[in-house]
Amino acid sequence: MAAPSSSSSATLAKARIAMSMDGNVIYHPDSRITPPHTEPGEVCCQCAAVRFRVPAAQPLGVYHCHCRECRRQSSSAYGTSAVYPVNGLFPLDPALRSKLSVYIRPGVRSRTGRDMACFFCTACGARVMHRYLRRRGRAAGADIAAEQRPGDETGCGGGGDVAQTEARATEEAEETGRKDDPSPSEVNLTDEASYDGTTLTIKGGLIAGLDYSRAVHIYTEQAVVDIPPEVEQYPGTPPP
Ligand SMILES: [Zn+2]
Ligand SMILES: [Zn+2]
Repeated sequence: MAAPSSSSSATLAKARIAMSMDGNVIYHPDSRITPPHTEPGEVCCQCAAVRFRVPAAQPLGVYHCHCRECRRQSSSAYGTSAVYPVNGLFPLDPALRSKLSVYIRPGVRSRTGRDMACFFCTACGARVMHRYLRRRGRAAGADIAAEQRPGDETGCGGGGDVAQTEARATEEAEETGRKDDPSPSEVNLTDEASYDGTTLTIKGGLIAGLDYSRAVHIYTEQAVVDIPPEVEQYPGTPPP
């Protein structure tokens, strides 16, 4: 496709998708020249198509999670999440929702057994936020009912325990085919009743001015980088 055309908020809202020899290429003309300016408390993805304010002045907690799930999710050495109340953000504004795609992480890969809606920018792919769904995957370690497990508000769902349960989960999924589980397309993400809990997590790197000074390192037993001994840290999930 030809070079990007003139700037406007309308073009910013709609990423242009073009084909090249390399496959799909998404052009985002307005954000290619200078990094977007953000105010403290503003969430902004890499391409600036997704922008909104955090739902509360201060997060309920900030976590650096070193579990395998968070490494894969963030494509980095660890993932950072800030926990907020959902009030004021959900139900999502339709204009914001229209810029987000959703990956539903199966509960079988989570300590909590709950599926998780993972919202990411359709244009640049930056992961934006996570929220648990009521729907529960056929959890590995299903001997413990998901309802009886401690709540996990850190945003990763305790992927750390996957190390012990991964093989069993795969076995079980193959055996059963999970035929009775609804497909992700059957989850109504505009219905508040689809969600579990009253918090969500927003990825830390997208929040302008986020205070990291009291961030807690979790699942450090799986860490691939050194963690300063003086910082608050836990080998698995933090105590409630
Ligand atoms: Zn983006
Ligand atoms: Zn994690």
